[in-house]
Amino acid sequence: MSKIVEEVMAANADYVANFGDKGDLAMPPARHFAILTCMDARLDPAKYAGLAEGDAHVIRNAGGRASDDAIRSLVISYKLLGTKEWFVIHHTDCGMETFTTEIMGELLSGSLKTATIDETGWHDNNEGGGTHHGKYINWLTISDNRQSVVEDVHRIRTSPMVPPEIPIYGYIYDCKTGELAEIAEATAEGRPR
Ligand SMILES: [Zn+2]
Repeated sequence: MSKIVEEVMAANADYVANFGDKGDLAMPPARHFAILTCMDARLDPAKYAGLAEGDAHVIRNAGGRASDDAIRSLVISYKLLGTKEWFVIHHTDCGMETFTTEIMGELLSGSLKTATIDETGWHDNNEGGGTHHGKYINWLTISDNRQSVVEDVHRIRTSPMVPPEIPIYGYIYDCKTGELAEIAEATAEGRPR
């Protein structure tokens, strides 16, 4: 077993030992809200937003972007599980600001090894064995993280599957302080209609 698997299983054994009455939790989020945020390892929505098990839906992807799949989850979140307010939370120093869709396609075409970054940008080691498949994907990169919050709130707001009464709030999490800063333009975009 890998060291990581051992660590995860040991942590899980501790969690099970202290699981308490969480087996009685209902499936619908008790606090009726959802968060769409980035997968960045420095972000812990349960901690930065004060969530306990059973409280809220947290949908995560690279960038916290309003991809078709994120919208799929949000629609399920309200339509079947009753959430009534949504947050879109991007963050400072997001990795999605460090490349473009074109760069990702090129990096994958060079090899499937992990790329490296320096002051001149991302570099592949070009060992071969790459693929052109990455050139067919919109990687939903970010050039301005305030603008990306506004755009994602707008995309969710204007989805015909999203009911007008759900407010959608836009925030940026500061990786240096842990603070959530509202992006007023995004929250205005996401106001109930
Ligand atoms: Zn990020």
